[in-house]
Amino acid sequence: MKIICHGGAGHTPKVQDGVDKAAEEGMKILKETNNPTLAATAATIVMEDDFRFNAGTGSCLRDDGRVQNDAAVATSDGRMGAITNLQDFKNPVLVARELLDEFVTMLAGEGAIEFALKKGFKQSKVKGSEKGWTGDTVGAVAQSSDGKISVASSTGGVRGRPVGRVGDTPLWGSGFYCDENIGILATGVGEAITEQLMCYRVYQYNENLEEALEWGVKLLPKDTGVGIIAIRNDGQIYGTSNTSMPFSIIED
Ligand code: ASP
Repeated sequence: MKIICHGGAGHTPKVQDGVDKAAEEGMKILKETNNPTLAATAATIVMEDDFRFNAGTGSCLRDDGRVQNDAAVATSDGRMGAITNLQDFKNPVLVARELLDEFVTMLAGEGAIEFALKKGFKQSKVKGSEKGWTGDTVGAVAQSSDGKISVASSTGGVRGRPVGRVGDTPLWGSGFYCDENIGILATGVGEAITEQLMCYRVYQYNENLEEALEWGVKLLPKDTGVGIIAIRNDGQIYGTSNTSMPFSIIED
């Protein structure tokens, strides 16, 4: 059993305790259920509920002061769910998770809100945070004892970007990817990550996970913050960034 969590590329090491807490919660759920989807989402929720992170309650603000969230969940048995521009839900990752068992894989804006309400989630004002840094998605990759992998990711986006902007986080192959071989998540400047189709290209790169992730980070200029975490089905687990990125690994 394994879990790796990150608190966002560019985030201060001062929030390491929050990332550790998320990984501990994820591992606890993994031990109880051996379900990597429940574990990865539980870990992500810990950070969505921690105001210091740019996800859920602490999401950064768009250029008009509004909070709009993106989130994604995917599993090694071939399911995925992503939402973008969701407004005023405390735990967007749970709404994305609901999509795993639907025919539709991705919902945006009004449609995402309608879906969330239909599924029983409560819409209530998420105030967000006016913090000075720009990004800091949160996310987790978990692997069960029988080798199943899931990824979960959640973000308020990048501070000051326009309403309706879609970053990499909900984009398959860019901000997240998962199949029977790998679970992989990116964080950082969403436009640059999307242009590089980051997660899928890193997965395709070569045999060694560490080398692949280090190669991936170098796809972006040094001053464009990016971080990547992943677990492979052969047991390799790794995280790296070209800036500070608090992350936490627990293996059992
Ligand atoms: N990747 C996120 C986005 O561009 C932000 C981040 O990870 O810092 O929306």
